[in-house]
Amino acid sequence: MFDKLHEECGIFGIYRHPEAANLAYLGLYALQHRGQESAGISTADGYRVRAWRGMGYVADVFSESRLHELQGHSAIGHVRYSTAGSSKLENAQPILIDCAHGQIAVCHNGNLVNAGDLRTHLVQEGSIFQTSSDTEVVLHLFARSKAPTTEDAVIESIGQVTGAFSILMLTRDQLIAARDPHGFRPLALGRLGDAWIVCSETCALDLIGATHVRDVEPGEVVVISDKGLRSRKPYPPARLAHCIFEHVYFSRPDSYVFGQSVNEVRTELGRQLARETAIEADVVVPIPDSGVCAAMGYAETSGLPFRMGLIRNHYVGRTFIQPQQSIRHFGVKVKLNPVRSILEGQRVVLLDDSIVRGTTSRKIVKMIKAAGAREVHMRISCPPTISPCFYGVDTPRRSELIAATHTLEEIRKYVQADSLAYLSLEGLLAAVGRDRANYCTSCYTAQYPVEFPRDADQYLQLTLKLQAEAGAHAEGKGQDQHPHPEDHAVIR
Ligand code: SF4
Repeated sequence: MFDKLHEECGIFGIYRHPEAANLAYLGLYALQHRGQESAGISTADGYRVRAWRGMGYVADVFSESRLHELQGHSAIGHVRYSTAGSSKLENAQPILIDCAHGQIAVCHNGNLVNAGDLRTHLVQEGSIFQTSSDTEVVLHLFARSKAPTTEDAVIESIGQVTGAFSILMLTRDQLIAARDPHGFRPLALGRLGDAWIVCSETCALDLIGATHVRDVEPGEVVVISDKGLRSRKPYPPARLAHCIFEHVYFSRPDSYVFGQSVNEVRTELGRQLARETAIEADVVVPIPDSGVCAAMGYAETSGLPFRMGLIRNHYVGRTFIQPQQSIRHFGVKVKLNPVRSILEGQRVVLLDDSIVRGTTSRKIVKMIKAAGAREVHMRISCPPTISPCFYGVDTPRRSELIAATHTLEEIRKYVQADSLAYLSLEGLLAAVGRDRANYCTSCYTAQYPVEFPRDADQYLQLTLKLQAEAGAHAEGKGQDQHPHPEDHAVIR
């Protein structure tokens, strides 16, 4: 409904708890913001692995009786927003197979950039794929492994994939968690009594009353069984590339990801934005919910009052999530309503975390002006999104990203704001603080830390032009970081 980048998945695993399925259900509930198209849970009771998956929200997919059927002391669960593989039940996770190593269920957050090549090779070798999901590649590699133990077969199969992955695998008697050596996606490790929990965000630990012990480290494989928890580091270290957009938008503000409070980082983004883009105004209004933390930081630093000038309807369901442009526009009105008493006659600083295509921003600015605002000054708590993501985030092609094809002034005119400003890349990195070199910022810089997938050309052609363009700017064309469409024509 909103013109946003979408996280692909959230994952949750628990080992050794009598209510494993129920706790997985609750954990997925807390991670619902990471994917709303499908949900699934697998459980293991020491003898066999079971699974149930369905399309829709966690609460739609699981009933009390369904959870009761998911017997076992261990479980993994998944919520999905699909891009790698289309939105179909067969692509929902966990994926469960039975092979020479026994039953294994897998769920994955991220995107495997060499999945296409591996899949082609496996098909040529006789593999038959059931889904279009990149995750299934890992299972085929696992099933073909001649390694002597399940654990070694998992490590061998994961060692062949590249890209972004936080992955959980469940056998009848083991829970295995692995994170790619770049650490693109978060993965937290927690404890609830004697049970171990592994999940995308710490908000899932909070909900079930578990303690956050530490994060699964980049490149680490954690093996949990009745013998306890063992950590292995089988892969060579790589440059860290935590997804900075987890802090900007994806993760819940009550979570800690990459060792930092999302709320604190997000509020600092707002403070930083106020330092960089201050303007005379009367009130700071967030686009809820994602703009709230940054708006509070902006208000704090600017000295302007923070007011909820837009009210969000939290009960709008998936019914309205439609691909058609017309429905998407209608959806904004369904989801947000302006508060006239706050906006009328005011000069409004409107805070949002990103502009993707610009269509929603335009609708919201119009809505605020229609409610009587005198001026609307749009402020974005991250740099312009100029390039697609290949590491587990649903991004439109570069040609659809408004900041990739328009100047700042063109975007301002399109969204009909009185002024528009983005946070600088330096400001974004300053807000994440001490570990700034450990972050991926590719969607703002078009500088990718890991190789592209085989079919990336269709997404990246314009990106390569942008890089040429950025070089031209660096050589003296000025400060404009939003290349003009005519400049692209010159580069062509
Ligand atoms: S390209 Fe952007 S969204 Fe993708 S991993 Fe990097 S920072 Fe995150």
